[in-house]
Order: sequence, then C-alpha cells, then structure tokens
Amino acid sequence: MTHVIFDACVRDGACVEVCPVECIIPGMPEDEWPWYYIDPETCIDCGACVPECPVDAIRPEEDLPEDQAYTTELNALYFTEGPGYKGLEMVEKAEKEHGKKHDKK
Ligand code: SF4
Repeated sequence: MTHVIFDACVRDGACVEVCPVECIIPGMPEDEWPWYYIDPETCIDCGACVPECPVDAIRPEEDLPEDQAYTTELNALYFTEGPGYKGLEMVEKAEKEHGKKHDKK
C-alpha cells in the first residue's frame, strides 16, 4: 500500500516537510507533471502528510475518490517512467539558479 497524491494538488509542498522517508517530490517539468508525487516503493504509509495538505489531495490508495483511482498508477509512473528523483535534482538546480519558483508557499 501507499499514500497517493491526486489531481486536487496545488503544489503547496507542506507534505514534503513532514515525510519521514522523503518520498514526496514536486513533479518536473511542471507543465508535464503538474502535481507532487509519492514514491510507492518508499512510502511507509505513516499518514503524516495527510493533515498537512491544504486541499485534502493526499489519501491512502484504498480511500481515493472513485474517479481518482488512476492516480495510484500515475504516482508510481512518475518514478518508473517519468523523471522521478532525477526530477528532484532538476528542482534543486532550478531553485539555485532561479529561486523557489516552483514553491507556491
Ligand atoms: Fe511520506 Fe508518510 Fe505520506 Fe507516505 S504516508 S508519503 S511516508 S508522509
């Protein structure tokens, strides 16, 4: 099991701060991967991220809204077919060069 971020995500980023295993990262490039994503291979299902989300966009996969079931696969795909943690390196590089433009806090 894993927790999943679904399409209500507004890229707030507060979830990242509380994750004990650092498995939540912002999707990059943002126009292709517009949410934050949870690595299902690393998530320990602790639930710490859930109350941090201002728009209630994180749920255990079994509690996703019916029309959001596809987002379980999408979160996993970010790490298997998409940029995954390489995307995080892109974020860090962009932050150094341009400030925290991806962070809407
Ligand atoms: Fe991280 Fe826990 Fe949320 Fe999984 S449930 S993404 S381990 S904070």
